[in-house]
Amino acid sequence: MKIKDLEFKKFITADRIEKKVAALAKHIDKDYKDKSPVFLPVLNGSFMFAADLLKEVTIPCRVSFVKISSYAGTASTGQLKSLIGHDESLFGTDIIIVEDIVDTGLTLQKVSDELKGLGAKSVEAVSLLRKQPAREKNIDIKYIGFELEQEFVVGYGLDYDGLGRNLKDIYSRVG
Ligand code: 5GP
Repeated sequence: MKIKDLEFKKFITADRIEKKVAALAKHIDKDYKDKSPVFLPVLNGSFMFAADLLKEVTIPCRVSFVKISSYAGTASTGQLKSLIGHDESLFGTDIIIVEDIVDTGLTLQKVSDELKGLGAKSVEAVSLLRKQPAREKNIDIKYIGFELEQEFVVGYGLDYDGLGRNLKDIYSRVG
């Protein structure tokens, strides 16, 4: 499959994603059974994962969104832009950051530090995908769906220059 100038192949099917999302939700339900956490999806990439995950979560919870972006094309710029954020008081709450993918971990660290500064009671993260740099740096992510190496992926919320977010499977770049 081609998106703009790049070639992609199917990498993780919608069926596998669905099963993994259900398992992650079950794990969260169990760990937070006497709590009422706030889920904080990091837009844009996590919108699809967050929607599917939250449909499977059964504990009482709230949802609020942050928007942050460090990617231009297929590489992290290292500079984080445009944080639209936390519109309700998060003081004293148990927060679960919802990420589509953690690569360098910069985004997650920034959001997590900010939340701790706002007086959150606890801050954990769930990410559908984790890349090798995050693994190497031991970035703290309590719930992880799939482990990747360095491949660039699109689909299921993830984009290449704005395209491909609507695909229900995850594709990886060829070549
Ligand atoms: P980090 O700050 O961990 O380096 O990057 C996190 C953000 O970069 C993710 O939320 C995602 O938007 C973007 N990102 C990282 N790796 C990929 C990838 O393989 N494909 C796409 N489409 N975005 C990625």
